[in-house]
Amino acid sequence: MNKKLYVISGSSGVGKGTVIKGFLNRNKQFILSVSCTTRKPREGEVEGVNYFFLSNEEFQNCIENDKFLEWAEFAGNRYGTKKKYINQCLADGKDLILEIDTKGALQVKKQMPEAVLIFIAPPSLEALEARLRGRHTEDETTIQKRLKEVRQELERAENFDFKVINDDLEKAILELEKIIIGDEKNA
Ligand code: ADP
Ligand code: 5GP
Repeated sequence: MNKKLYVISGSSGVGKGTVIKGFLNRNKQFILSVSCTTRKPREGEVEGVNYFFLSNEEFQNCIENDKFLEWAEFAGNRYGTKKKYINQCLADGKDLILEIDTKGALQVKKQMPEAVLIFIAPPSLEALEARLRGRHTEDETTIQKRLKEVRQELERAENFDFKVINDDLEKAILELEKIIIGDEKNA
């Protein structure tokens, strides 16, 4: 039961949301944790589904009251995972996926060494930038902030358990299934 926390990270625009969605469509028993953020919702994002959207004050309150398992600042906004939700899911024996940044992933690993850390990498930096721009969800300043994070993310990824290159989408989903389902079978 303890080996059921999978943490997935990857640079903004690499396609981790797309890969995870493909995985979840085929593996319905997995639950994707909903994070808190101070970022403003993108068009179409829904409170409690994509994120819990908090004000800076609300987020600060959660930090001060020790509500987060981990939290980190990313490209000018703060993001965090609530302890209560994660502990409840794990206690219920649920299979849980966290999609969080590399700083947060390493914090989780420190506290829960059984967590499996998976890094989604781009086929190239050019492809990463093209995908981030092609998504048309961020303005130029935000895109630049996100691209600035990439080098450090790749360095932190050296400490992850697995790396999946998201070149061909279907292959990336299959690879993720091999890691997670293979691991589940062996648990
Ligand atoms: P992230 O969640 O990592 O920020 P997204 O899942 O939003 O990234 O994907 C960013 C963009 O890249 C989207 O427009 C998505 O359709 C596209 N994308 C995802 N995976 C691939 C892939 N393997 N090949 C080409 N484009 C992809
Ligand atoms: P986005 O703004 O594109 O939704 O997310 C930006 C970054 O924040 C991504 O790398 C995403 O994985 C990360 N992120 C989302 N939720 C959390 C969280 O709860 N904690 C941390 N540390 N990072 C998160």
